[in-house]
Amino acid sequence: MAEIFYDDDADLSIIQDRSVAVIGYGSQGHAHALNLRDSGVDVRIGLAEGSRSRAKAEAEGLRVLTVADAVKEADVIMILTPDQVQRHVYAESIAPNLEQGDAIFFAHGFNIRYGYIEAPEGVDVVMVAPKGPGHTVRREFEAGRAVPALVAVEKDASGRALELGLSYAKGIGGTRAGVIRTTFTEETESDLFGEQAVLCGGMSHLVQYGFETLTEAGYQPEIAYFEVLHELKLIVDLMVEGGIAKQRWSISDTAEYGDYVSGPRVINPAVKENMKAVLADIQDGTFAKRFIEDQDNGGAEFKKLREKEESHPIEVTGRELRKLFAWTSPDADYVEGTAAP
Ligand code: NDP
Ligand code: MG
Ligand code: MG
Repeated sequence: MAEIFYDDDADLSIIQDRSVAVIGYGSQGHAHALNLRDSGVDVRIGLAEGSRSRAKAEAEGLRVLTVADAVKEADVIMILTPDQVQRHVYAESIAPNLEQGDAIFFAHGFNIRYGYIEAPEGVDVVMVAPKGPGHTVRREFEAGRAVPALVAVEKDASGRALELGLSYAKGIGGTRAGVIRTTFTEETESDLFGEQAVLCGGMSHLVQYGFETLTEAGYQPEIAYFEVLHELKLIVDLMVEGGIAKQRWSISDTAEYGDYVSGPRVINPAVKENMKAVLADIQDGTFAKRFIEDQDNGGAEFKKLREKEESHPIEVTGRELRKLFAWTSPDADYVEGTAAP
């Protein structure tokens, strides 16, 4: 059984007695920084010169410094720039300013797991990874709740790295919901697998095939959109509340029977074999290498794929249909038609 920590297992005063630098003010960065500040933690933001995020952080009354200056001031450094730039920011501005007794924190183990960042002796290496998007992390905290999180210690130089991690997790609210102990390796590999095979990659392409199958057979795109995309949320909400069983309890007998007989025709054992191949590429570093090499090449493949996927007919239909809805996206900084935050 997993080890799970709650509010009573964490001492907030540990992080309140440290000085924290949050590097990057994007999805996770803004949530960590604001939640920590609201928990009475001394926090500053580290950003590159001319950063687009600077104004947003300053509008919240946060102090914004260069990454180097933020690291010099702080003794807990949470690195929340995109994974593909972390090793550059680390080498240029973080490593030269680390001191014995400092701790570097991550919200995803990618750079440590694949060896792109190697911390010096005497520095704790800890992960506190909320299991949800940054905007939800902030929204839930403000509502008095939290998104569950993971905690892991890669290097325990101080002998107290876990306590520090749990204290940080309490500062961002995570211990309200529960913080599960893991390792950098387990978190990185399972996180990449989950997003590639099921949550993002699997789901996106399942929806696209469903939409294509219906529209190519002559059904209206608007109808297809509702059937294969819009209703997903309702199904997923039930699964989150009570597992696959609650979803099957709530749907009609017709739908439930169809699930049993047709589900395995669509998602057959070959799909599981494909998943195993995806996992193998994650475990042996093939995926990480491909991602980082493309990023070093200006993200040429990434940009091409993003453009291709954005022009899928379901996106065109969806953009028009969503204009008709009374409710709007609560994420003010999300712009329709751009995948980037
Ligand atoms: P974002 O893409 O939202 O981060 C963008 C931020 O990083 C911006 O403030 C940006 O500044 C800044 N930045 C970019 N390049 C640099 C640089 N060279 N120097 C300094 N700052 C820079 O990242 P996420 O929040 O998505 O991800 C952060 C980490 O959290 C990753 O490790 C990710 O895997 C992890 N994570 C993310 C989740 C999420 O919800 N997105 C969920 C769980 C974990 P500017 O405005 O100038 O571009
Ligand atoms: Mg320092
Ligand atoms: Mg992920």
